Amino acid sequence: MGASRERAIVLEEVAAKVRECTLCRLHRNRTRAVAGEGPVDADLFLIGEAPGRQEDAAGRPFVGSAGKVLNRALTSARISRKDVFITNVVKCRPPANRAPKADELEACRPYLRSQIEAVRPRVLVTLGSTALRSLQGPGAGLSEARGRDLAFDGIPVRAAYHPAAVLYNRRLEAALRADLRSIGRRVPKKPARVHSTPPRAGKPVRPGRSAGAVVMNREGRALLLRKAGEAMWVLPKGTLELGETDEEAAVREVHEETGLRVKLLRPLTEVRYAFYWPPDGVNVDKTVAYFLAAPIGGRVRPEPGFDEGRWVSRSEAMRLLHWPNDREVVARAFDARRTIGVIGKRRGSSRAAKRSTRRSR
Ligand code: SF4
Repeated sequence: MGASRERAIVLEEVAAKVRECTLCRLHRNRTRAVAGEGPVDADLFLIGEAPGRQEDAAGRPFVGSAGKVLNRALTSARISRKDVFITNVVKCRPPANRAPKADELEACRPYLRSQIEAVRPRVLVTLGSTALRSLQGPGAGLSEARGRDLAFDGIPVRAAYHPAAVLYNRRLEAALRADLRSIGRRVPKKPARVHSTPPRAGKPVRPGRSAGAVVMNREGRALLLRKAGEAMWVLPKGTLELGETDEEAAVREVHEETGLRVKLLRPLTEVRYAFYWPPDGVNVDKTVAYFLAAPIGGRVRPEPGFDEGRWVSRSEAMRLLHWPNDREVVARAFDARRTIGVIGKRRGSSRAAKRSTRRSR
């Protein structure tokens, strides 16, 4: 299971516990507990005080008047609300919107902590004094904290006014927006994901060369990678850098993408295909050289861009791999492994592979 999926499950479990929670008196008057919402890989994690009347009715954070103020401030800071995780220090509405009491804050604290650990944001943003004090201790003051670099469990913390305060003092709206703009500048924008499309008629053609590998362990299983946020399983591969051989690029790409150091055992095949690449406006005529490889060190730790690395059998690979080309390459790898024997145990196999890879240049 991928790290993102595991973290998403933690968030779902927290939400389920919150819905059933009776740990403090606030459960008595709630209509719906409000666990929070947002993507598990959010860079920004916003923490308010407690649900209000409309949030209590909807079961979602910041959907009432204060939510509108927050949405305006996020928009002015060019932060998309759907990209941030939003929750409150306590998950149930206090009667008459009073401030949460110390024992209620204490009872609810483990839920917030689990959410922070699951999301692991780049920046925690406290909205108002209650959220600030829940992370920085009871002595923390909002005026002194605004604009300062604080931290909680090694995660940077920035303090801002609570949007509800703006409803009572409109002059604070500019300050809230300025705080969020300053925070937004500290978080790198995620580049929009670009997808290739089928080749387009009349576009210039650019040749491209990549190299990759089918890495097989001693148990005879092949390593596949799952692209981040997608159900697409692929093989590790990437474009040759200037002056690199196919072999050098394959070893480097496998290490960068999977975390494993590998030795190449033999070349498998070359795959050729074409696609249109929108950022450059060209049809790419791509050739990929694939090798059979065995791990010699490191551990499977997919780089950002992949959610999961999995050792699979031949039949699993045929079922999971997205591209028919990749399935053919993996089938060749399993056949080749049969002729080589148990990878890493038979003497001479690596020498034979060296001879073989030299021939391929
Ligand atoms: S406020 Fe938190 S601790 Fe209290 S009942 Fe709701 S979820 Fe449980």
